[in-house]
Amino acid sequence: MPQASPADLPSRLLSWYDRHARSLPWRSPPGKPLAEPYHVWLSEVMLQQTTVQAVAPYFLAFLKRWPTIGDLAAAPLDEVLTAWAGLGYYARARNLHKCAQAVAETLDGRFPDDEEALRALPGIGDYTAAAIAAIAFGRPAAVMDGNIERVLSRLFAVTEPLPAAKPALKALAARLTPDHRPGDYAQAAMDLGATVCTPRNPACVLCPWRDDCQAARLGIAESLPAKTPKPERPTRKGVAFWALRKDGAVLIRRRPDKGLLGGMMEIPSTPWRDGQDWPLAEAVPHAPATPAGDWRPLPGLVSHTFTHFHLELSLVTATIRKPELALGLWCPLDDLSGQALPTVMRKVIKHALSKAY
Ligand code: SF4
Repeated sequence: MPQASPADLPSRLLSWYDRHARSLPWRSPPGKPLAEPYHVWLSEVMLQQTTVQAVAPYFLAFLKRWPTIGDLAAAPLDEVLTAWAGLGYYARARNLHKCAQAVAETLDGRFPDDEEALRALPGIGDYTAAAIAAIAFGRPAAVMDGNIERVLSRLFAVTEPLPAAKPALKALAARLTPDHRPGDYAQAAMDLGATVCTPRNPACVLCPWRDDCQAARLGIAESLPAKTPKPERPTRKGVAFWALRKDGAVLIRRRPDKGLLGGMMEIPSTPWRDGQDWPLAEAVPHAPATPAGDWRPLPGLVSHTFTHFHLELSLVTATIRKPELALGLWCPLDDLSGQALPTVMRKVIKHALSKAY
């Protein structure tokens, strides 16, 4: 087990942060009044599994459109999903909307200021609750994201692989978190991981914790955190139907609310099955409409990687005989960009537009 930490680790990190903090649109600068809870919550939910660079334009667009949590709560879910499209992990957008409604309707538009009450809200887990409590309310909550995990595993040379090492790392984080400026401290640790203690080639000479870093001393920084290898992702396959009406409109449909990409729009397809190709004759019974002629295969494939599997979609196209009987919604090509289409479906559309005309 790692040794007890030197008492001045937090203050050294805070001094470093005062000079090197990243300027991010949801942040209050170091040492300034705490950031708005709505902004902290929105950014933290967006940042789960996504990079700062990808999130910034979405965060600004959301705030412009829905300046308060009450505005977001009052927005139709479909508009929120459309604005979220491209950020991935769409269950987060649905929970974001539910959480906004819970805060607006039952909490008078105010987020609770402690971790336990925050965790009771939709879509707020341990990490987000701690981040909001620390950053928006100045509570000494131990925040633990991927960057902080990496920094602490190196600082204390924790060689046990993740995820088994998580409880030990969390205990170390709790031990280090100061009562003074805990929100700045959490953001400083995130920044240290993002800019100095990077996964490869950590810039130890620039690090405020270098003198106490056990991994740097042992020369093992780059090998930490150790990770239990993940099982390989399987590849699933499907056939998407690029169904056209005579006026050029394309058929889309809504996915079931529950499950992967829940409630998002899609180009209709067969089920996505493990490993096995779809002969056309097997795919056609899953078509959402009857073509005037035959379904025509388009060359090439659309590939997309989800958390647990790779997807390969082939495409077929046809003009539909009785469009009024089709299962879905006819959307003019020009209106597709306004639909809540996830990234994989935007790839399908791009592919179809490049091959079908
Ligand atoms: Fe990371 Fe190097 Fe700092 Fe240790 S000294 S925390 S390895 S940047």
